[in-house]
Amino acid sequence: MKLLQRYQRFVARRIGLHQGLVMEPDTWRNSLFTLALAYTFPISTLAYLPAVWLCIKTETWSILVIDSLAYALFFVITYIRGIPLGVRKWTFLGIVYGVAVFLLLKLGILGPGLLYLLATSMFVIIFLPTSYALWPSILNLGLYLGLSAASLLGYWSVGGIGPEVWMVVASNMVFLSFTASALFPGVFRGFQLAMGREKIARARLDSQNQQLKEAMLTLESRNHDLAVLASAASHDLREPARLIIALQGRLLPRLETAGDPRMAEMVSLSQDAARRMLALMDDLLQFLQMDTEPQAPKKVDLNSLMVEIKHLFANDLKSKSGSFEWTDLPTLTAHEPALYRIFTNLVGNALKYHAPGHAPRVMVHCSASDNGYLIGVQDEGIGIPPEHREKVFHAFTRLHGNTAYPGTGLGLAIVRKAVDLFGGNIWVTDNPGGQGSIFWIALPQHL
Ligand code: ADP
Repeated sequence: MKLLQRYQRFVARRIGLHQGLVMEPDTWRNSLFTLALAYTFPISTLAYLPAVWLCIKTETWSILVIDSLAYALFFVITYIRGIPLGVRKWTFLGIVYGVAVFLLLKLGILGPGLLYLLATSMFVIIFLPTSYALWPSILNLGLYLGLSAASLLGYWSVGGIGPEVWMVVASNMVFLSFTASALFPGVFRGFQLAMGREKIARARLDSQNQQLKEAMLTLESRNHDLAVLASAASHDLREPARLIIALQGRLLPRLETAGDPRMAEMVSLSQDAARRMLALMDDLLQFLQMDTEPQAPKKVDLNSLMVEIKHLFANDLKSKSGSFEWTDLPTLTAHEPALYRIFTNLVGNALKYHAPGHAPRVMVHCSASDNGYLIGVQDEGIGIPPEHREKVFHAFTRLHGNTAYPGTGLGLAIVRKAVDLFGGNIWVTDNPGGQGSIFWIALPQHL
């Protein structure tokens, strides 16, 4: 099959045709012509050699000359470079028509002459523009009438066949020739129409794609600018916020010893506000930097990660008499900072949103399957009402005031972004084992 395709390409190169993917009717005609040429010469060899043998044997030299001439011409128009395509087509049609007439005159209806005449009609319809479609049929009709007259007047007769037999058989060829001339151009027109429509649709789609691409590029560049701006702003604002907290820290004991409790309370409140601002800027910075941070996957044992996180929250656990446990967890190959962000935020929330009078109990578990991992971070806290379970993952969505539970409203948005970067999913459900919630994270096998 490959060999045949290579051969077809070879002939196409010889002819000087370079076929593109997009086919216009004319390119299609040319490509069909190339195909016909490519196979005509090798196949005509099969017909030519027995014909030569028969001609030599029966000493019919005229057929040998015509056949040899046709065979040589087929070779020239198929394999010789530099001949214009139009000349190749007309030569091809001329050979087939010439052979047809010659065989008809020589062998009558017993030879393949009528078949070749019909074939010429088909070839003209397929290889030449539609305006030529009727020509061969008219030519065939002329030939039919001429030979019928010649036969009736006794000028022409081959193999003892009378004019009635000739007229009956040949009229069928004329009929088929006209039918083809009427039908095939319609097929071509339909084909041309369909291609025209497809071309318009494709052009429209291309232009829409281009517009979409440009819009995406603009959006991406604006997003990038915005992220850079926000990240620079929150980075630069951290230093003054730290300074305010430090200075207020020095001022506070002085005000207390100076016996100005009202002023001391005001300074303490503004110190809290500055701390909240700092926390917000830290979270914002984390949230914004995640998109641009280069991913550096390495093996991370989640059990060791949990030990680290337990250290981080040691004071919180101690002051709230809480517990933090996990079952045997897998080792993942992933970007460690992203995993760290996911679990610090989820475990931090589980410890923070505990029910009053109920010590926080946090449990992390995991089940593995062919599809990946399903990790659950389970708490016995205040729970999340079903109607809020989707929106808690949106940035700056908080279900509680700052006095009840301080926070920035960015923790779960950071978690969701990290899980998204891993190609995973996150959602929250009730904790069926008691009060509280379970945050589920589905991660693919390969992160
Ligand atoms: P933050 O904790 O800083 O407010 P988050 O994005 O981490 O922001 O959480 C968004 C909101 O989701 C929180 O304000 C809280 O109302 C709710 N929430 C998060 N985790 C829990 C949890 N484990 N139990 C109950 N509510 C939670």
